[in-house]
Amino acid sequence: GRTLTAEHALAWTGRFTEAVRRGGEELTELDRRAGDGDFGTNMRFALRRVADLLDGGAPDSAAGVFTALSEGFLQTGGTSGPLFGMWFREFAKGSAGGEVTTAVLARAAAAAVATVQRLGGAEVGHKTMVDAMAPAVEALRAEADRDAEVAEALSRAAAAAREGAESTRHLVAVRGRASYVGEHARGVVDPGALTVALFFEAAPEPDA
Ligand code: ADP
Ligand code: MG
Ligand code: MG
Repeated sequence: GRTLTAEHALAWTGRFTEAVRRGGEELTELDRRAGDGDFGTNMRFALRRVADLLDGGAPDSAAGVFTALSEGFLQTGGTSGPLFGMWFREFAKGSAGGEVTTAVLARAAAAAVATVQRLGGAEVGHKTMVDAMAPAVEALRAEADRDAEVAEALSRAAAAAREGAESTRHLVAVRGRASYVGEHARGVVDPGALTVALFFEAAPEPDA
């Protein structure tokens, strides 16, 4: 379709939650090797809060779903909780009050990564979530330029985010706890970037 519906956003969030639940141990293991080993726990806590918020009444817009994601992550600890919370908050703001087209998503995603970078100070190549967020924005912009449908655009964003996450494997971190261990974390994919890939990979409807 041309727009992201509330139903699609809810199903997307459900698939993301399932992917993080399944990948939780791997995410924690990556953070154990490069940080303090709480990452999977932080993500599962956040998504439990999100599910509780959604159970309290399903939103009737994609913006409402993004708001629940934002609030759930903002209630979560670790560096990633507030950063993801503020990232989702920009998706909520950008989607509010109108049709959520590919162009709207591209603009929201651009504002979202800008906010994460303003708060955390990370650039692309610093081995953080930004390494997956920024390429997803570029993919969404290109898809908006060719007027692609939402599901198609999101699957291109997913491929770009996955490639960006993979690129963190050979980097030495400049930001976050992984920067404290330097060379020791080379070879370890950044779990925050991997989570961004899981998020976009959960977006396209399986039969779309
Ligand atoms: P903590 O180090 O507080 O335990 P988490 O385990 O919750 O943090 O999250 C770690 C993730 O946070 C990393 O994988 C990385 O993607 C992200 N991260 C850390 N510092 C920054 C930063 N300054 N900017 C953007 N992302 C960051
Ligand atoms: Mg951690
Ligand atoms: Mg921690």
